Amino acid sequence: MLKKEFENEVLKILIPVRCFSCGTLIGDKFEVFSKRVEEGEKPDKVLDDLQVKRWCCRRMIISHIDLIDEFLPFT
Ligand SMILES: [Zn+2]
Repeated sequence: MLKKEFENEVLKILIPVRCFSCGTLIGDKFEVFSKRVEEGEKPDKVLDDLQVKRWCCRRMIISHIDLIDEFLPFT
């Protein structure tokens, strides 16, 4: 039970909280982004909806790869 909760927390914090270049908060937007893209929406429209307008911030979300499942067996 405890381990499960801890894993969920790791999943949430894996994307950097702020954009490396401009410092805009983006950590809260990745979950919504990936959920909506999985449901079939176009990534560029989702980013526009989430008010992620700058290139630097968009690349943070688009280029993020969730590797937590690859790492978990080694913790
Ligand atoms: Zn940025």
